[in-house]
Amino acid sequence: HRLVVRAGILTATGPKFAAEEVLVKGTLGEGSYGQVFEGALSRNGATERVVLKRVKTRVEGAEEMGQMELLLNVYASQKARGAIANFMGHIEVQPEESNYRLTPGLWLVWKYEGCRTLSYYLKRRDCLQALARDLAVPEKAVVATVMKQIFECLTALHNAGVVHRDVKPLNLILSEEERRFKLIDLGAAADLRNGTNYAPDESIMDPSYCPPEQYCLPTSAPHLGRQLAPLKLAISPLLWSRHKPDCFDSYSTGLVLMQLAVPKLRSSSGLKAFSKALQAYRCDLEAWRERERLSPAQTALLDAEDGAGWDLAQALLRPRKLEVLDNGGVEFTNEGSGARLRVFAALKHRFMKQAAVPGSQLAD
Ligand code: ADP
Ligand code: MG
Repeated sequence: HRLVVRAGILTATGPKFAAEEVLVKGTLGEGSYGQVFEGALSRNGATERVVLKRVKTRVEGAEEMGQMELLLNVYASQKARGAIANFMGHIEVQPEESNYRLTPGLWLVWKYEGCRTLSYYLKRRDCLQALARDLAVPEKAVVATVMKQIFECLTALHNAGVVHRDVKPLNLILSEEERRFKLIDLGAAADLRNGTNYAPDESIMDPSYCPPEQYCLPTSAPHLGRQLAPLKLAISPLLWSRHKPDCFDSYSTGLVLMQLAVPKLRSSSGLKAFSKALQAYRCDLEAWRERERLSPAQTALLDAEDGAGWDLAQALLRPRKLEVLDNGGVEFTNEGSGARLRVFAALKHRFMKQAAVPGSQLAD
């Protein structure tokens, strides 16, 4: 039903592998919807290291989400190559081909690029040192460099018309070879050019990283997935320029910046307390900062260069003028000087001058 309506482009499912070509190995990670394994893909006499994701069958709506994730990976790997983990294709495992590890159903396949997410680093006591080592940048450049990588990936995705909607440390993977973070987990992403995985009244996002408005477009916006292709092409640019749905992801990146820069916000309890307080202060970071009485060690990275980090974080975490309707829907705007900073514009913020310049990374 909904799948048919929302996925007018179900034909674009990309390369397909045979069940007999893959071997499932150890677990790499698990989220609320998927289980992810390392694996081996053997074709034409060669074997490659891959990442395999299967959607948890017992989670409600998971099957449809898997289909959407497939479509979005196919689309984004064409339109925003390099911004997301290197997607290879999918496998449709039939019951008779299955075994206790390779269970029946849809599997997604990526090239193996590494096993460390940004969350792995945030949990380490030596977070910034470990990042400095693995990214090969000076320690004082780490926060701006990681943020730059995140902004670059998101800008590419946004330019392709896709809002990620689930930006968080667990959904950023370090490509060991390229020494940079890439986005993973397009399960909640919305393609606001074609309408894939987007319904106006649906918000499906980790509450810890979700902006206060909860939706990337006002709930009264037209249901893109239900429009005919020529109409989509006409409507989509209007929706983008009017509502700036990419600002949904801006907010999440603001929280990631705060976690990277302020050690006490790296734990999930620290982040939750921060989010709650921020809501109470109506996203006024200055008020939070005054109230919190943080030690200089906690805020040094935000204080540097005349408070460049504070300024960027505040711009990303700005509230949108919000109106909650009687039917539970929301309307909001993002105009004027108090508007939330857009991701592509964040790349030009003065804080970004602290990022390492690619190519001269080891020179401090
Ligand atoms: P979910 O939709 O359940 O959140 P994710 O796609 O986020 O699933 O994957 C869950 C975890 O698996 C991630 O947090 C990460 O640790 C690991 N993972 C997912 N994709 C990759 C990948 N391409 N490379 C390495 N690890 C990955
Ligand atoms: Mg995830």
